[in-house]
Amino acid sequence: MSDTTSPAAPLVSREQQDEEMIQAAFQRLLDTYLASNHRRKTDIITKAFNFAKQAHKGVRRRSGEPYILHPIAVAQIACGEIGLGSTTICAALLHDVEEDTDYTNEDLCNLFGKKVANIVEGVTKISGGIFGERASLQAETFKKLLLTMSDDIRVILVKISDRLHNMRTLSSMLPSKQYKIAGETLYIFAPIADRLGLNKIKTELEDLSFRYEHPEAYADILQKLKDSKDMRDKTIEGFTPAIRERLDAMGVNYTIKARIKSPYSIWMKMQNKHIPFEEVFDILAIRIIYVPADRNKEKDECFRIYSALTEIYKPHPTRFRDWLSNPKTNGYQALHNTFMSKQGKWIEVQIRSDRMDDIAEVGFAAHWKYKDQNAAYDENELDRWLNSIKEILDDPQPDTLDLLDNIKLNLYSSEIMVFTPKGELKTMPRGATVLDFAFNIHSVLGAHCFGAKVNHRLVPLSYELKSGDQVEILTSQTRHATPEWLNYVTTAKARNKVQAILRREKRAQQKEGEDKLRQFLVQAGYDFTEQHIATLRLHFGQPDNESLFVGIGDGRFTLDESLNDVLKGREHKKGWRRFLPFKTKTAAATQTAEETISTADFVKNINRKQTLILDEATLEKCVMADCCHPIPGDDVVGCITADDTLEIHLRSCPNAVRHKTRYGNNLVACRWDTHKSRLFDVAIRLRGVDAQGVLHAIADVLQRLSRFTVKRITLDTNDGIFEGQMIISVFDTADVTTVCNELMQIEHVTEAVRV
Ligand code: MN
Repeated sequence: MSDTTSPAAPLVSREQQDEEMIQAAFQRLLDTYLASNHRRKTDIITKAFNFAKQAHKGVRRRSGEPYILHPIAVAQIACGEIGLGSTTICAALLHDVEEDTDYTNEDLCNLFGKKVANIVEGVTKISGGIFGERASLQAETFKKLLLTMSDDIRVILVKISDRLHNMRTLSSMLPSKQYKIAGETLYIFAPIADRLGLNKIKTELEDLSFRYEHPEAYADILQKLKDSKDMRDKTIEGFTPAIRERLDAMGVNYTIKARIKSPYSIWMKMQNKHIPFEEVFDILAIRIIYVPADRNKEKDECFRIYSALTEIYKPHPTRFRDWLSNPKTNGYQALHNTFMSKQGKWIEVQIRSDRMDDIAEVGFAAHWKYKDQNAAYDENELDRWLNSIKEILDDPQPDTLDLLDNIKLNLYSSEIMVFTPKGELKTMPRGATVLDFAFNIHSVLGAHCFGAKVNHRLVPLSYELKSGDQVEILTSQTRHATPEWLNYVTTAKARNKVQAILRREKRAQQKEGEDKLRQFLVQAGYDFTEQHIATLRLHFGQPDNESLFVGIGDGRFTLDESLNDVLKGREHKKGWRRFLPFKTKTAAATQTAEETISTADFVKNINRKQTLILDEATLEKCVMADCCHPIPGDDVVGCITADDTLEIHLRSCPNAVRHKTRYGNNLVACRWDTHKSRLFDVAIRLRGVDAQGVLHAIADVLQRLSRFTVKRITLDTNDGIFEGQMIISVFDTADVTTVCNELMQIEHVTEAVRV
């Protein structure tokens, strides 16, 4: 019956196979969860699973399996091997959603609550931020950072679960990646797992790393362990019967296990002591695990068992370890000693209760299990457990030597750690802002800072930094400190520097204002005397000369011909605008003269004591300086050159300033009156974050503002930032403001200024 006509087995599509595999993995997770002491929150777990599944839909891991199997496996570890509850399971299921899909942390917060969203955010930060580009950081720094940046220890537990699954599936990675991941695991994650008492996971992480980093040594030790198994079995057979006999007689409820040293630990011992495998004496240890008759007298029973052993075998005089009275920092408790067997071999024996054994294997997740067997587990219980870890980490026992002893899990630490773009680590006080950070790095950086990219996202000066943030300060030579900045700094260093800059700027403005005023008075035919200064001070309502000068210097107070009346004591109550006819008269006079007067004559005939109105007619007679390209609306001054040309400069133009000092009497005060009749070219500098769609948005704005002709636009992108310049034809400064404001409305555009 084996011909082609027999019905073919139903074709199962790849999708269907995947689906079955996914459902089976998820069911296993639910079963594990339901078998635990946790409350039954399967609804939220199922919701998280469905959400993650849909978010990762269509994506496969390097191994070819559907991506969602990875988060399920991570949740399985968090639940089954660490003993965590629904919050962590949800976070584990969702842990790659923020990094790998379009969903944001806000989405997760809305759907699953703040706790879950915070854990996912922490995990995302650790993966993307720290282990992404800056692998050159010292392992110690990594560890320290990891612990300080996690506001919730569950972040680390999910990350450890994630790492364990990645290590278990490491064979599908590229070899170059394997080394990096294995190294990181050994130096960072295994010690943290150890610190948290996750002994089983720590051992597995170490062995997996060892296997990838030193495959031959690993295989060699495995082989030797296999070859020496018989010998160990014989040792156990000779050693344990006497113990069993005694414990049975005492009525102890116990089990005896053989503990074989892990390949990595054996290898480390061989390396550290420069000995061959055969000389590692403690490969085998005997573990006696008892269930105490009375849990309150657990410790007494442990010592009684120890005492009984000493009557059978001779204990080693110096190897006794009492982790019972002084638990290790990770919570480990047991009595250890080495005993001489009848065959004359030293054998290590470890005595611990079932509770201590659980803690030794899975860490503090085991704690709650022994508190009240009947009480339903709840989140508060977990919080208490997490707090107990914190306390232990914060208060290490003095007699324990631990890799991570110096590390405090400062959940509310007064310091945060942030990175420069090059991966340099900076410690800042909690609450520090972008501006604080900029000043911390360099005063110049602070002085011209206008914002930053934090984790590649654009943020303002006032943004409060968090541990683990990568901060790139954005600067612009046109940005300067303002008094508002004092609200944005929290460190004394930054505050002092901002105040110093403000004082310096104020002095400069005061000087500039004083110079302007002197020049104005002299040109208008007055002396620079206290009397005239006082008149203007009253006019502008200033308490003292300094503030008057500052006001003139920073442009708040304008000096023009209207002040003539003030100085002459004829200030009209309704203000100088009443005297506007003055202007039109001049304009009209100039206009009629226009047809007959040549440019040179025009310039020669300029009345230097009057303000020249720059309108359509007079503009024909003067030249816009090509050093500063003034346009209508700018504060300008006319300079009459040696060849009788009237050049219009910005008042701030260095050339004009030079001219002012040299040929003071060849200056002409000018005021615009152009009525949008003539176009001027201006350059606008653009800067921003090179995000998707930003160029499109710029094009959109320019399209909308089509009344302004764009003559040229160049944009360069570099390291996530774009910079460019556009030349655009406008009538006056108001147009420039319009264009710049429109451009600044675009998200990701951080700077649009005339240059
Ligand atoms: Mn992952």
